[in-house]
Amino acid sequence: MSFASWRDRGREAAVIGLGKSGVAAALLLRREGIPVYASDVARESAASHDVTLRLQAAGVAVQRGGHDLTRIAQAGVCVVSPGIPPEAAPLASARAAGVPVVSELDVGWAGLPDTRFAVVTGTNGKTTTTALTGHLLQVGGLRSVTAGNIGRPLAQVAFEGPPPAWVALEVSSFQLHDTYDLTPAIGALTNLAPDHLDRYPTLEAYYQDKDLLFRRATPESCWVLNADDAEVRRRSCGRLGRRLGFSVRQPAEAWFDRSQRALRLGESLLLPRERLTLLGDHNVANALAASLIAAEAGVVLDDIREGLASFRALPHRLEPVAEQGGVLWINDSKATNVASTLVAVQALERPFVLLLGGRHKGEPYTVLAEAAAARCRAVLAFGESRQLVAGDLGTRLPVIDCGTDFARVITEAQRLARPGDAVLLSPACSSYDMFKNYEDRGAQFRAAVEALG
Ligand code: ADP
Repeated sequence: MSFASWRDRGREAAVIGLGKSGVAAALLLRREGIPVYASDVARESAASHDVTLRLQAAGVAVQRGGHDLTRIAQAGVCVVSPGIPPEAAPLASARAAGVPVVSELDVGWAGLPDTRFAVVTGTNGKTTTTALTGHLLQVGGLRSVTAGNIGRPLAQVAFEGPPPAWVALEVSSFQLHDTYDLTPAIGALTNLAPDHLDRYPTLEAYYQDKDLLFRRATPESCWVLNADDAEVRRRSCGRLGRRLGFSVRQPAEAWFDRSQRALRLGESLLLPRERLTLLGDHNVANALAASLIAAEAGVVLDDIREGLASFRALPHRLEPVAEQGGVLWINDSKATNVASTLVAVQALERPFVLLLGGRHKGEPYTVLAEAAAARCRAVLAFGESRQLVAGDLGTRLPVIDCGTDFARVITEAQRLARPGDAVLLSPACSSYDMFKNYEDRGAQFRAAVEALG
């Protein structure tokens, strides 16, 4: 749908959720002359007051502390912000009344008619691949921004202008569910694995939302696909458009030549492995995916090379924070589940002390024992889950219970690590028992490590 078709309906757009995506969508719709009602279940607070005033000045009818379901049922379109569960009452009310429900991404898309989109989805590696893609496009001289789940709502890109030539857009399965118009020039599927089973009735339902990446496939589409992932291969098979594969195992359009330790685009050398500072094979896969996208967008090989070499790990994702006395301290606070920690442990080639624990999320830690056994000097267990960690790993690895004092965890790590080792914070748990969130946990780790120096 276009803004004109929304306007022509002569009815309100109902924007559900007044986080930064909802606010940007509401402002953009108003600028296009569409009447807007916007509501959020959270009450007005000191922090939200200025935003309310800004929306009202733009002519938005704002409601906080609840939703007017009758008004929503009479709207011409209902715009849903990321993070609103599909069964939320306002969405149910819109659907029951036959009001189309669309994501904030479709609003942003309508506001960026001349922009091209590189859309990145998948279970893991979305943010890294999107950030890397944005970086490569910029090094290649294209006017580009990153948007979507990575931080900046697409509607905000459209509202603030000037429109970029390219957007590297990170999208989740939830966003894809309600996105009908957005058409990727290039779409990338990083991998598929079980996730979000708290929000989907079945794994198949989650994968079906991921399939919606291909909803607007045309013969001109280009798909960048993980050739090592059987589920990705299966689900992308037979779609309209060209398919480009990336692999860390075998030759593909972009691949990791393990015997030569080189990233390659077809036969051409892209980069020796050691010039990519990101740790781990999973990040080689992310780099290969981003390189394919950039090449497809017209970035020349030399610029891709330079961009890959100058890219640094994102905060809290296997991020080296300091090297002190030959010990490398690594912040992987974003690893809030066992699978992420497993990837991190596999990525390290040196001996390491592992900082593990926090609020338990239900998965056993046992799979970490085998992966860590060869190089793990000790596991420092902390937070609510520390006894479960000790129970699951204690027979295979030396586990030290560090209680709930993070300063003690750091001191203990410093005591145990030897020159040439790493200290890896990759907790496999959520952070809410001892920290505000994973960013706070990572920031406290960094501050403590910097204080050691
Ligand atoms: P997402 O945005 O999909 O959550 P991120 O790029 O933020 O992904 O990475 C989050 C965590 O997922 C990383 O710390 C790492 O443990 C893991 N990860 C990243 N890329 C991959 C990948 N390609 N395959 C498997 N796991 C990955």
